[in-house]
Amino acid sequence: MKLRMTTSRRVALVTGAGRGIGRGIACALAREGFAVVVNDLDHNEELQTTVSIIREAGGEVEAVPADISDIPHHREFVDRVWRAFGDLDCLVNNAGISVAKRGDMLDVSPESFDRLVAVNLRGPFFLTQEVARRMIDAPSKAFRSIITISSANTEMASIDRAEYCISKIGLSMMTQLFALRLATHGINVYEIRPGVIETAMTAVARERYQARYDQGFTPINRWGQPADVAQAVATLASGALAFSTGEVIHVDGGLNIKAL
Ligand code: NAP
Repeated sequence: MKLRMTTSRRVALVTGAGRGIGRGIACALAREGFAVVVNDLDHNEELQTTVSIIREAGGEVEAVPADISDIPHHREFVDRVWRAFGDLDCLVNNAGISVAKRGDMLDVSPESFDRLVAVNLRGPFFLTQEVARRMIDAPSKAFRSIITISSANTEMASIDRAEYCISKIGLSMMTQLFALRLATHGINVYEIRPGVIETAMTAVARERYQARYDQGFTPINRWGQPADVAQAVATLASGALAFSTGEVIHVDGGLNIKAL
């Protein structure tokens, strides 16, 4: 991994950076020259691996574990994040979960529904709120951004994962709301909408998706990789699209295109 040299240090927080897309994003931001705070539920082996990859490449990284759905502890979590490098220029809301078991939406339990909404929507909303308040209280000349990883399921219905789809569509409106609210504070807000990405989350449905790819599932017909999503995040976080906010970037090989 080769790092980009920059004159002033920018700091990013990536939630759910222990593996998969989150790890890819953390590495891409480190390559972009960010000091990175990597979060996961616990300081487990996977999170330590993310730390080691970045550190061995000469990047600056600190691990701050926390459960992003634990809203009463967000203030303390963000305190620890801020203390790591003394600032924060970019929040990446990546952590998310899928349903424990895919199945008929007529059988979705209130417990499963609440769990998905708590982690995928309530957690990111209130974490964004907490980070936004801190950013406003500590103004900066650096380009600042909040980037949320939603899903193709914001616009494509999967009836075997109803509560996942519902939790993710809320993130699209959340992005637009925070984009409006934070524009005058110099904070740009974006949504990244991945298609099917090859991670532990999609491993349970690997054969099903592979069968679809074998028949030409997406215009760019291959599995998406964490690096594809990470590149989009790094581009947005760099400020390359500084006059755009509230935007959605699809990282899905063209899956979202309606074709006749
Ligand atoms: P993943 O491999 O399951 O990784 C998710 C990471 O988030 C894990 O390290 C997990 O930690 C962590 N996490 C879960 N709950 C958390 C919590 N409450 N607080 C802090 N960290 C938590 O998933 P992924 O495929 O990389 O997905 C990352 C994001 O992209 C998710 O928001 C997902 O919905 C979205 N997405 C994925 C795809 C796809 O095809 N893979 C497509 C569209 C969108 P533990 O290991 O400790 O559980």
